[in-house]
Parts: sequence; structure tokens; C-alpha cells
Amino acid sequence: MQKPEQTRREQLRLALTQGYEIGRRATALGRVADYIPELAKADPGAFGISILDLSGEALSLGDAEVRFSMQSISKVILLALALQRRGETETFSHVMMEPSGDAFNSILKLDTRSNLPFNPMINAGAIETTSLLVGDVTFADLLAYTRRLCLDPDISLDTAMYNSEFQTGHRNRAIGYLLKSKGVMEADPEQTVDLYFRMCSLSVTAKSLAGLGLVLANGGKDPFTGESLIQSDHVRIIKSILFTCGMYDYSGQYGVRVGVPSKSGVGGGIVCAAKGPLGIGLYGPALDAFGNSCGAIHAMTHISRALRLHVFDY
Ligand code: GLN
Repeated sequence: MQKPEQTRREQLRLALTQGYEIGRRATALGRVADYIPELAKADPGAFGISILDLSGEALSLGDAEVRFSMQSISKVILLALALQRRGETETFSHVMMEPSGDAFNSILKLDTRSNLPFNPMINAGAIETTSLLVGDVTFADLLAYTRRLCLDPDISLDTAMYNSEFQTGHRNRAIGYLLKSKGVMEADPEQTVDLYFRMCSLSVTAKSLAGLGLVLANGGKDPFTGESLIQSDHVRIIKSILFTCGMYDYSGQYGVRVGVPSKSGVGGGIVCAAKGPLGIGLYGPALDAFGNSCGAIHAMTHISRALRLHVFDY
């Protein structure tokens, strides 16, 4: 008779292999982002997945160790640190927790419907949470915290990506100045967007994202040392916001089809915090119209179904 943990490991391996094949084929359906010129250099056919559980041995396939920029996935870390430094009440007096239904970089409703950004997972919201950290934490602090959360000491700043985003990030600057003009942002908008651009330009791998996913899935504790990296009531908030807002204006469909708290970035990464606890990290820079990785979405749709990872599966 097989031990139950062996069977589970085999289930994981099978779901990973099938998800990988489905995802790799789906990369042909997407296009690499080019609005940040440096992103356009990515290989559209690249694809990798990594799954990490409490055994500590990641199961990985394809380009799981290729470095790419974290982009919007850094919004999760910025929110975690804003909650830690400023607390829940103050953080949510600067940003709401409602899905926006608009594109990630939209400025529209911010001016017409509300002064506060809709949620911390769109650019306006993340720029506001970043502003809560300016003057309190340095970029070096944020880098050190990101390395611990991703269980990856090798994460560093991709300076070419940062320069590219710094030179072209005018819409993000506009968002910063709009928030400042409304009195919502207290910090300096230039310093704020600079920190935001740096965080977007941290280079991670699918494996690092599996690490971050596992920490979130594990209630904020480092699964191997037991150290608390994010307090558990903050993890509850973060995962709820990832479920409703993590995949931009595809969040509703993703919630129905995949149903795992996840966050994507235009670099092609997706981090997933799944039941088990399991952390799943994916990389595929060919994106769909929403800015989500085509390969990763297709792969996760399969993996969630195969392993019954939807939060409402029973
Ligand atoms: N750095 C990107 C931007 O601000 C991040 C957006 C994303 O990943 N969706 O435009």
C-alpha cells in the first residue's frame, strides 16, 4: 500500500505535468508586454511552473528558474508591509478594498467616482500603499523583506528594467500626482513612484513565487523556520483581496474558474496561495488582453480542477 503522502506527491506531479503542457501550448495565444520597453525582450514561448509544499522540495518544470521582473506581484508585499507599519484601519483609510472592474493602470474612476483608489492590487492603490512606507522603510528594507517572503536570497533589482520603467512610467506619475492633489497621498509623489518602480523591477523566478505563495498559504509563517513574516490576520486580509482583485479585471472569471488567491504581474508571473498549504509560482511572459499570463492562466485552470484547490471545493 502506498503511503498517503506518496499518493499526494504523485497527484501533484501529474497535475503539474499536465498543467505545464496545457500552459506551454497556450503561450502561443498571448503577446509579450511592450509598454515598458525592457519587457518586450522576453521570450514569448518561455514557460515554467514550480509547486512547493511543506516537504520543502519544489516540483518544477520548464523555465522555473529563469529570472523576470515581479511587476504587480510586488503589490502584495507593499500591502503586507503597509499593514504591518500602519495597521489595518489607517491603511484602509487610504485605499479601499473593492474590485474596480477596470484595467490595472486606469485613472478614470479615481477622478470621477472616488478619491481613494479602489483596491491595493491596481496601480493607483499600490502607489498609495507605497506612499505609506516612504520615509519609514528604505528600498533595502523592502528588498530584504521580499527575499524572506519569497524564500529566495538571490532576488535583486533588475536595473535595466528599473531604468526602462523610470523613463516611461508617466501614467504612474500622473496617478501619484492626482492622489497628491486630492490630499489622499501625504508623501512626495516622485519618491513614492520611484520606490514603486524599484519594487516592480525586482527579479524573481517561478520558484521564488512558489515560496511567496507557500508563506501566504501557511498563514504568513516561514514554513521551514516557523518565523512569522506576516501576521495571520493580515494574511486573511491579503488573501481576500487577492481573491477578489488579484487578476485585474479578470478577477471575477478567475475566481469562478480557478478560485485560488493569486496575483499576476505584466512580467508574466503569477503567485498562487493554495490549500494544502501549497505555493504555486508560474512564469509565461506572453499575456492576454487583461495583462495576465496566458500560459499561467490555462495551467492554473487545469491544476486547480485536478487538485481541487478552489477555495469553495469541498
Ligand atoms: N510596473 C507595472 C506598471 O506599473 C506593473 C503593472 C502590472 O504588472 N500590471 O505599469
